[in-house]
Amino acid sequence: MTESVTAQGGLDGLRGVVAGEVLADGDAGLAEAARVVTAEGRPRVVVRCAGAGDVVAALRYAEAEDLPIAVRSGGHHAAGFGTRDGGVVIDVRPMDEVRLLPDNVVRVGTGATWGQVAARLAKVGLAISAGDTAAVGVGGLMAGGGIGWMVRKHGLAIDNVVAAEVVTADGAVRRVDSATEPELFWGLRGAAGSLGVVTSYDITAVPQKTVHFGTLLYPWTEAEQVLEKWAEYMSDAPAELTSSLQLAPTMMADRQVPVAVAVCATGDRAVLEPLRNLGSLLTDKVVETPYAEVFSDMSMPPGIRPRIRNGFYDEWTPNLGRRLLAARPRIPGLAMEIRALGGAYGAMPADATAFGHRDARFLVNSVLMGPSEQADDFDDLWTSLRPKGAYLNFLSHPTDDDLDLCYPKAHRARLATLKQSVDPGHVFRNTVSVPPRPEWTGGRRHLMRWAMRSRR
Ligand SMILES: Cc1cc2nc3c(=O)[nH]c(=O)nc-3n(C[C@H](O)[C@H](O)[C@H](O)COP(=O)(O)OP(=O)(O)OC[C@H]3O[C@@H](n4cnc5c(N)ncnc54)[C@H](O)[C@@H]3O)c2cc1C
Repeated sequence: MTESVTAQGGLDGLRGVVAGEVLADGDAGLAEAARVVTAEGRPRVVVRCAGAGDVVAALRYAEAEDLPIAVRSGGHHAAGFGTRDGGVVIDVRPMDEVRLLPDNVVRVGTGATWGQVAARLAKVGLAISAGDTAAVGVGGLMAGGGIGWMVRKHGLAIDNVVAAEVVTADGAVRRVDSATEPELFWGLRGAAGSLGVVTSYDITAVPQKTVHFGTLLYPWTEAEQVLEKWAEYMSDAPAELTSSLQLAPTMMADRQVPVAVAVCATGDRAVLEPLRNLGSLLTDKVVETPYAEVFSDMSMPPGIRPRIRNGFYDEWTPNLGRRLLAARPRIPGLAMEIRALGGAYGAMPADATAFGHRDARFLVNSVLMGPSEQADDFDDLWTSLRPKGAYLNFLSHPTDDDLDLCYPKAHRARLATLKQSVDPGHVFRNTVSVPPRPEWTGGRRHLMRWAMRSRR
């Protein structure tokens, strides 16, 4: 770490070297900067970073003051990872540049939101498959993988990354790609939050102006049949079609909220046809839409932290469908969304990125909308569902076991070695994070307890 950017002299020293903004007690704007979607946050300092140098200064300050850090982009992670009571928040939002490079490569600052990226790319007829919500940040979505509306056609958002700039715990600013730092490049694609602060990604965009996008609605009473037939078709559907199925909580039974089959087709609308025959179709709201408009402006209501949990499955079984549906009356606040995977997502070799669940054909995601008395039933449901893995980005209350679920065994071991080389002090731990290798002794339980303790 160079002396010129060290923040010796406490807060004043930090303010002296940061090009962006430093917010601490008494500063207007601290509360807003500390807040993420599911938590108010009471950090000691927020550094709104204008560039990599500011990230280095913030890391140096946190080290000097012995404060834990959080990295924050769009602030949407449900576990509140983007803030940290008593710590230093490294806020990357000012780094929101979206710049076109040759060959449809786009340099995207990690502080941009996916809505901003899509709007910018729409002007030149390009698109990146990345999430479904405009306000979600580039930094956080990429940290877990990024399951977007074209995931079956173009893979995860990280699958299209060709290079990145990252600041590691030692304060080094590194340009990383498959040739210069192959192992770190591997790790950043699925575990970036554990390894450093990414300031920008170079991502290959695809020419895509419009898509066939919208929902097919079926009666509430036909949920079982619609789910089974949807899963059967989506197990092997053309990659041009990405789809999810949404089941409203039974606490809304009085409103008989229809089963929604959401679709996004990049080519011929004909791929949708089997999805129009899953039951007694109520409405077909699928229309040709500019890709930038598929990003929803809805987000989570601020200030509450609903329970969110998910699981990957390699295949759909009638038994899984029955269990999900049987849980609904027992847990009236349970909202479910099932995303079909496969296609380009599954074509990527499992060991090509730190994200490893490439055999998964379905992701079941769930949100507990109801009162907290249902929390135990919700957790029990997930214990009984025995998913083969979990998606880091959809976890509101991560437990010890989630490290195992997020990273398959071989990936975890490889990440621990990488972590030891780039973050031996486990600075980046305010996420579901693999600890560095030396702690990899004494049994998994011990390790997990250590990891969770050090998060506090
Ligand atoms: C309404 C809603 C819709 C969603 N839809 C989707 C979806 O369709 N597909 C999908 O895949 N996910 C989706 N998500 C999940 C989303 O990807 C995660 O919540 C993600 O963490 C949010 O990113 P963020 O930047 O907004 O979050 P933040 O809370 O700012 O960041 C979360 C964590 O990501 C890491 N991180 C952030 N920035 C950086 C950086 N620059 N360098 C390194 N690590 C960093 C840090 O660990 C940070 O704490 C959705 C979430 C919500 C709330």
